[in-house]
Amino acid sequence: MEDCIFCKIAAGEIPSATIYEDDDFRVILDLGPATKGHALILPKEHYANITEIPDELLQKAIVLAKKVVTYMMKALPCDGYNVVQNNGEAAGQTVFHFHIHLIPRYKGDGAGVTWQQGKLTDEWKAEILEKTKGLRGE
Ligand code: 5GP
Ligand code: ZN
Repeated sequence: MEDCIFCKIAAGEIPSATIYEDDDFRVILDLGPATKGHALILPKEHYANITEIPDELLQKAIVLAKKVVTYMMKALPCDGYNVVQNNGEAAGQTVFHFHIHLIPRYKGDGAGVTWQQGKLTDEWKAEILEKTKGLRGE
């Protein structure tokens, strides 16, 4: 993809702080980290989001997330991890090249990877269960 910053970073055309690389992925430090060690898993091929990335590559991406998180928990060290993946502008996606955020968490770090809890109403429950019948093959 022309003009995709993550394609250029993943290809090594734009320098990045790379903590891991293989044939399919580059894992880089985020330039605007939520916490120390915040990293991004970038596939080398361009896919805009989770609906576009092929299943096989997505499986590799999540297994890589596990590998990096497991390693970094000890190497940093940190107390926990958020694995976050945004799809669409409404969900906070700003770079439209699939990526997985790996955000180390430290007790009391105050990072804002959270949301205000609502309440599951009977109305929402009924509506969503109705709309997901096809998902369950009903
Ligand atoms: P999104 O909001 O799309 O889920 O995440 C995009 C992330 O990419 C943000 O956390 C932002 O800080 C990071 N980012 C944007 N441009 C660059 C860049 O040129 N280099 C690096 N390393 N990170 C970037
Ligand atoms: Zn791209």
